[in-house]
Amino acid sequence: MGATIVEVRCGRHNMLATTSLRSPRPVRLLNGATVASLQRHGKQMAIVTVDGRVLVVHLGMSGRMTFESAPPTDADRHAHVAWLVQPKSPSKPKVPWGNTAHWLVFRDPRRFGELASLASPTALERRWRALGPDAFLAPPDALMAALRGLRRQAKAALLDQAVLAGVGNIYADESLFRAGVHPTQSLDRLSEDRLVRLIAAIQVTLTAAVNSGGSTLRDYVDANAQAGGYQSYHLIYGRAGEACPTCGRPLEGLTAAGRTTVACSTCQRLIHKRRGKVAGSSG
Ligand SMILES: [Zn+2]
Repeated sequence: MGATIVEVRCGRHNMLATTSLRSPRPVRLLNGATVASLQRHGKQMAIVTVDGRVLVVHLGMSGRMTFESAPPTDADRHAHVAWLVQPKSPSKPKVPWGNTAHWLVFRDPRRFGELASLASPTALERRWRALGPDAFLAPPDALMAALRGLRRQAKAALLDQAVLAGVGNIYADESLFRAGVHPTQSLDRLSEDRLVRLIAAIQVTLTAAVNSGGSTLRDYVDANAQAGGYQSYHLIYGRAGEACPTCGRPLEGLTAAGRTTVACSTCQRLIHKRRGKVAGSSG
């Protein structure tokens, strides 16, 4: 896209987790580089430069990347790195923020995120090949292939970035509720139809989250996100004990995949029997 990084500010050097970044120098944070592309896979974003360098920003549990017109202030303790990006030419506004220079700001209140410097786009491909398909961008078929027949609890599988990339705790609960699948449901017991519903629910949930700018302080990731307004749209997240929006019975709070979880045991009934072909049927 040809924009140039004309200034980098780094608030917290211990965010620079990889060996190559432990003694950070501005050049490692791509100061002066011309940006070829901004890419995202799951919870990782990458700034790829025209000279082949790559800076990966792993957003962890609470990290966000946003474009802003002003640099973060000193009081903004969660803004760890900010890149001032100058578009190439006012006549080519093919950048998401238009013609003017903007700050790309990495904030991570809970500090599980990290930055990593890679030598080439090939190294980035290798890194991202270890992840499952991007839950927001990948075609439904790819997500079906990732989940079908897994002998794992549904929530654990959704949160495992090697299975699907980009689903965090909130969106796992919201998706499972939408699909009527219990968080502890073993995926290999689900019918093909139910799996299709689950994939659709994941993509509907993530689309709603991105459209509304993502949840404040939590998971989802969008380079153009505004401060999140999505939390008011959560169907069940954070509502344990309240009435289920579908059936009115109290939502249960539980722990699944080691994470705080909310579900409706009525609308998300556990299926223990293996679905699919019944013995003796013609299929
Ligand atoms: Zn219910």
